[in-house]
Amino acid sequence: MDETPKGPKKRITCFLVDRRHPGFTVRDGSRSVSHPGYKNCVLEFSDCRLPAGQVLGEVDGGFAVMNDWLYATRLTVAAFCVGRARRCFEMAVAYAAQRKQFGQPIAGFQGVSFQVADMATEIDASDLLTLMGAWRLDTGLPLNREIASAKVHASEMLARVKDTTLQIFGGKGLMDDFPIKRFWRDARVERIWDGTSEIQRHIISREIFRPLGA
Ligand SMILES: Cc1cc2nc3c(=O)[nH]c(=O)nc-3n(C[C@H](O)[C@H](O)[C@H](O)COP(=O)(O)OP(=O)(O)OC[C@H]3O[C@@H](n4cnc5c(N)ncnc54)[C@H](O)[C@@H]3O)c2cc1C
Repeated sequence: MDETPKGPKKRITCFLVDRRHPGFTVRDGSRSVSHPGYKNCVLEFSDCRLPAGQVLGEVDGGFAVMNDWLYATRLTVAAFCVGRARRCFEMAVAYAAQRKQFGQPIAGFQGVSFQVADMATEIDASDLLTLMGAWRLDTGLPLNREIASAKVHASEMLARVKDTTLQIFGGKGLMDDFPIKRFWRDARVERIWDGTSEIQRHIISREIFRPLGA
């Protein structure tokens, strides 16, 4: 077993398990506030024995399998966040241009228009980070840090864009008349699944300090 400064390196193995395999049960999990249509399941294993042919990848090589999968899903989360932020942004811009208060469109108030400017800038920054991660994936370049940066930036950007959009819609943003409250609610999970924002920051800072032995 390889030694690391924190003790023996843990090794895991991935398996493909058939749904009806003895010792494996899938039961319904709790519903989440974000994406309530998404069905969460709890996977339970009890004395579940599998033949060697069900190993996914190499024995003890589970981290490599999971990392390949997580690169793709984290990049997908980042891309989803960018797309959903753009949809929200377009709605915020259209609403700000037509909603009149104090005799003028609210877009004419700098308090609103500067929020729109910040949203545009943040969305583009997330978009470019996501494209850079995708390009590194395609070209086979190291991408641990870049994909973590894209995921944390895009998911946190989405939270700000949803919140700002809701603010621009005022009270209507919280009502059923518009989908804004659903967008806002659904955005929350993006900072949690596929590795929380803290875990992405852990990956980024580890990649920065590891070459320095710190
Ligand atoms: C709706 C929904 C669907 C999901 N679907 C899937 C799925 O399909 N497949 C799947 O595998 N998982 C899925 N998950 C699980 C999700 O990936 C985990 O919830 C997420 O990775 C966080 O793990 P945890 O909930 O165990 O939190 P914990 O790991 O217990 O973390 C709790 C808090 O501690 C912080 N923390 C933990 N460790 C550290 C550290 N080292 N440094 C700093 N902070 C730390 C976290 O950032 C977080 O704030 C889903 C979750 C939700 C809500």
